[in-house]
This record gives sequence, C-alpha cells and structure tokens, in this order.
Amino acid sequence: MAPSLGYRDAVHALRELGLEPGVPVLAVGAPEWLDEVRGDISSLAGALLASSAAVLSPAFTLQTMVTPPFGPEGNGMAYRSASEANAEAEFFRSDMPAHASLGPLPDALRRVNGARRSNHPILSFVGVGADELLVQQSLTDPWGPIAELAVRGGEAVLLGADHTANVALHLAAQRAGRKQFVRWALTAEGVVECPAFPGCSRGFAAIAPRLRGIAREAWLGSAHLQAIPLRDLLHTAAAWMRQDPAALLCDDPTCALCQAVRSTQS
Ligand SMILES: [Zn+2]
Repeated sequence: MAPSLGYRDAVHALRELGLEPGVPVLAVGAPEWLDEVRGDISSLAGALLASSAAVLSPAFTLQTMVTPPFGPEGNGMAYRSASEANAEAEFFRSDMPAHASLGPLPDALRRVNGARRSNHPILSFVGVGADELLVQQSLTDPWGPIAELAVRGGEAVLLGADHTANVALHLAAQRAGRKQFVRWALTAEGVVECPAFPGCSRGFAAIAPRLRGIAREAWLGSAHLQAIPLRDLLHTAAAWMRQDPAALLCDDPTCALCQAVRSTQS
C-alpha cells in the first residue's frame, strides 16, 4: 500500500527544510519514491510551488536519442550496435512526457497552470514562475537555467534522492573543464546534434560528505529531503573536480563515459 502524502505534510516538511518563498529552487526527486507517492504527486508539486519563488525541474527526454553510424572519437559511446535502440527512438515534441527515469514529478509540474518547458530535444527543463531561467538554455548551453538559478540565489532540493539525481553537478563538471560529449536527438526537423552533453552521474553521491555544513535536511515520511544553496554546491564540486581528476566519476570499469573522462586526464 502506497503511503499517503498530504499537501500540508509536504509544506511542513519543506518549511523544516528551510525553503523560503522568495527563493527559486531546482527540484529533483528519486523516481522510486516519487512513484510510491504518485497519487499525491500534485500535492508535492503544489507544496514546492507554495514554498519557493520558482520551481525548475529536469524534464529530460532520453527517449529521443539516436545513435549515428559514426561520430567523434572518445565520445563515451559505441556507434555500432545501436540500430535496435534507434528503432525505438521517439520524435521530440514539447508535450511529450519526461523520461520514465525521472519519475512523475516533471509531468506533474508540467500540468500546473503557467508551467513552461524549454525546447532542448533531450535536456529540457520544466519551470513554473521560471520563464527567465528557461530562456537561458540553448543547444550549446544546456545548463544555462541552473547557472541563472545560482546567480539568483537559488537552491537545489533533493526529494528522497541522493546526488546521483542532482543534475546541477553536471554544470559543476562543465565549469571544472571536464570533457563534454555529443549526443543526437530525433526531431521533426531531422536529427539534431546536441553538444555540451554531460557525462555519467553514477558517482555523484560522493559529494555528500563535502557538503556538510552547507546542506540542510528534513524528512517527509520515509523520504530524506536536502536543500543546498546552488552557488556553494557548484563552487565546492567544481573545486574538487579541478583538484582531483577522478572526483565524482563512477567506479564501474565498463562505464564508457567515465573512461572517456579519465583518458583525457591521464
Ligand atoms: Zn560512470
């Protein structure tokens, strides 16, 4: 039986977390927990909106990705063996659901009155009250909305998720000079090349101990909530990655993305 999540419980927990109605947030959740509270997901979305100045959340559409027969070297992927995956790729549409790996939060936010979505064919964001953040995104600068959110004193809010869901760390990696990748998306206008594509996030949880004293926490039912000022998060993570070339990479020896990063640094 799925736990029930009331609007008032969510507002209370976000207040405990120290969110302030004047501060914009980047909200990311653990898909497993969000799926558990799916029936009440609009309560959670409403509570986030009531507790912040603006809400931004990844609404990525990985289902649009296609693999060309060849492409740049060291791009963290295999170019052959992809014909089956390509057969399942979907054309990007601005009203398509976010990828299932993000759970139901981005689509709940998209249903809110006044919600907008940026039009990156793989890495779109949904925003409510966040139009000035969304316009900062382009194909060559997918993390522009997060950079702008940091400038405006925004915070990253993790809902039952660890930092592997914290997409702001991709911006930190880019700022630290980490290798970026190229991916391709299927759109009505043809296949679109998407540069500045991020690496792997499976090692991101290792940032947690370095955020002690910066991250605030609270609980909502079984879900651990965290809030981290974005400026501090980006500064801490980028500084560590500059100092340690292996910081925040995953330890899977078969991870093509992390291997590609390592090979640029050796
Ligand atoms: Zn990896």
